[in-house]
Order: sequence, then structure tokens, then C-alpha cells
Amino acid sequence: MDKLKHFMIGRYGIDQLSVALLIFSLVLSLLNGFIGSTILTIVDLGAIFLCYFRILSKNLYARQQENFKFLRIWHPVKNASLRKWNRLKGMKTHKYFKCPECKQTLRVPRGKGKVCITCPKCKHELHKRT
Ligand SMILES: [Zn+2]
Repeated sequence: MDKLKHFMIGRYGIDQLSVALLIFSLVLSLLNGFIGSTILTIVDLGAIFLCYFRILSKNLYARQQENFKFLRIWHPVKNASLRKWNRLKGMKTHKYFKCPECKQTLRVPRGKGKVCITCPKCKHELHKRT
């Protein structure tokens, strides 16, 4: 264990991009189990190689910059998926409307009869059955 600790001193280690590469390569190898493509195998090995290269790299600044670029792309994707997932979870208890004025999504509890909904963004009022 001490040898590994000593070996990892000054090296970059694991970050979000490395984990993403590892998951990507795992998904790719699972997929390749069905397809059996040589190109997928090469891409898979490339992803694993890149992952280990990044973890063991001593150029910390370059690896951080790569991770920042990755996160700048990843966060909007992750947030959009989370929003969709939360909306799916809330379908039973809430009803969703779109404000006709500003296109803001409005969430109202279900089963409250006919209600007047005021958009918090533009103060437009709409009457809907929940
Ligand atoms: Zn509005």
C-alpha cells in the first residue's frame, strides 16, 4: 500500500472525466459483447488507455483543463436529464403547464379543481383544471 502511495505522489489521480471514460469503456465493452466489432474494441481500449494515462499523468494543469472542459459540457446535459427525471417522478402528484407568455414551466399540485395560476416570472394569470 505504501508503494502505491509513493507511486501516486505528484500524479493527477481520478477525476470526473476519468470516471466518465471508465463508464464509457464499460458500456462499450458490454455493447461489443453483442456486436463483436474490431473498431469498438479499438475505441474501448483507447478509452481505457486514455483513462489510465490521465490518472497517472504528472501534468496536473493540462489534466485539470481537460476536466473543466468536460464538466462544461457534462453539467448542462446532467441538469437537463435531472429536470426530466424529476418531472417524470412528479407526474402523479403535480400537473405541469407552460406559461403562454414567457414559456416558463409551472408546476401545480393535482386534484385542486379549477385554479388560477399566476406565473412567477411574468405575473400572467391562467385558469386551469388540476
Ligand atoms: Zn410567464
